[in-house]
Amino acid sequence: MPVLVMKFGGTSVATPDRIRRAAKRVGVEVSKGYDVIVIVSAMAGKTNELVGWVDETSPMYDAREYDAVVSSGENVTAGLMALTLQSMDIPARSWQGWQVPVKTTSAHSSARIEDIPPENIRAKFAQGMQVAVVAGFQGVSPEGRITTLGRGGSDTTAVAFAAAFEAERCDIYTDVDGVYTTDPRITSKARKLDRIAFEEMLELASLGAKVLQTRSVELAMRYKVKLRVLSSFEEQSDTAGTLVCDEEEIMESNVVAGVAFSRDEAKMTLVSVADRPGIAATIFTALSEAGVNVDMIVQNIAEEGRTDMTWSCPVDQVLRAQKAMEASKAEGVINYHDLIADKDVAKVSVVGIGMRSHTGVAAKMFRVLSGEGINIKVITTSEIKISVLIDRKYMELAVQALHDAFELEKAA
Ligand code: ADP
Ligand code: ASP
Ligand code: MG
Repeated sequence: MPVLVMKFGGTSVATPDRIRRAAKRVGVEVSKGYDVIVIVSAMAGKTNELVGWVDETSPMYDAREYDAVVSSGENVTAGLMALTLQSMDIPARSWQGWQVPVKTTSAHSSARIEDIPPENIRAKFAQGMQVAVVAGFQGVSPEGRITTLGRGGSDTTAVAFAAAFEAERCDIYTDVDGVYTTDPRITSKARKLDRIAFEEMLELASLGAKVLQTRSVELAMRYKVKLRVLSSFEEQSDTAGTLVCDEEEIMESNVVAGVAFSRDEAKMTLVSVADRPGIAATIFTALSEAGVNVDMIVQNIAEEGRTDMTWSCPVDQVLRAQKAMEASKAEGVINYHDLIADKDVAKVSVVGIGMRSHTGVAAKMFRVLSGEGINIKVITTSEIKISVLIDRKYMELAVQALHDAFELEKAA
């Protein structure tokens, strides 16, 4: 029998009633003759609550216990979904990550899936089980401990199962009816895309569009998984939602496909460090060893052998970065006058594979921002994206202005 993977996010399983609605969708696919693997998230808000409890109990927590607590939300929804399906006379069974097993690295709280042996679930399908309900977001480390895959990780669970079982498709059911030109919560002019290229989706996800976890898009691209994003609240046809696919499968597209943003950024500047070979290596090794995810980097022009070094990182890692720099200064490996942290910045990015062949996108982006009186603090570019760091209070305005200026509400 062909296998279909269906993933339901937090809002889609937020209550027993919503679980019943989702189970009905599963029933429709079962009746078409699929063996279905359902991946569930925790109920909406549950994971945040669990993270809050861990922080309250132990701010400098042991990541293994964080995972033990935070993975539990998915166990509840997996069991409830299996019960609901059974009550509809659909043979279903729930599976926690370790039972499958979903084998991951031991990088607790951000583990990567290494292998999903399909034998156990396949054997159950052969015995008549029609739906395997798998708790998303979780796996098991080589040491036999529960791991989690990072926030939004159920998307990655879903794509990894689709790859492991050579599924016909991986459907991601969520609270929006597809991937939009930007988060529809920021502007009502956001337009749903029928298709989006893997490369563009990868950039949008990594630049903040949380509709798919970045790693899930990477996996789908690598294993050629047919990935679709659609709403769990609407009646569905086979062409509903957004298909994430190879760029060759897209006929027409705008130069800019979408605008992404990341709200909780910080900009840090080391003032007056020695301008000598190895200084960047020393600074960024210390930051990386402290677990700081550095994003943008700018080194200023040197004067009299001294320079400033600026980087951006998630705002909740500022303290860690400060500690790392102070420790390096105390050890005498880095000498600087001051460390300035600006915690009120956000990153806004425009993304599109059309930028490979079109010039002037950056100039236009900067003109639009300046027209709104928004000052740009840091800029980075790649072949298919341009990102700027700006004051957080202008983030929505910037997204809306860019969406208008690049006419994203209109299809190509
Ligand atoms: P789930 O709980 O189903 O995994 P998420 O909250 O993780 O859902 O992701 C869906 C949300 O992603 C939407 O409600 C929307 O606000 C947000 N989002 C951000 N960028 C986009 C985009 N470009 N297209 C669609 N949704 C987006
Ligand atoms: N429940 C987890 C989270 O909120 C995983 C997921 O929903 O994808 O991050
Ligand atoms: Mg999500």
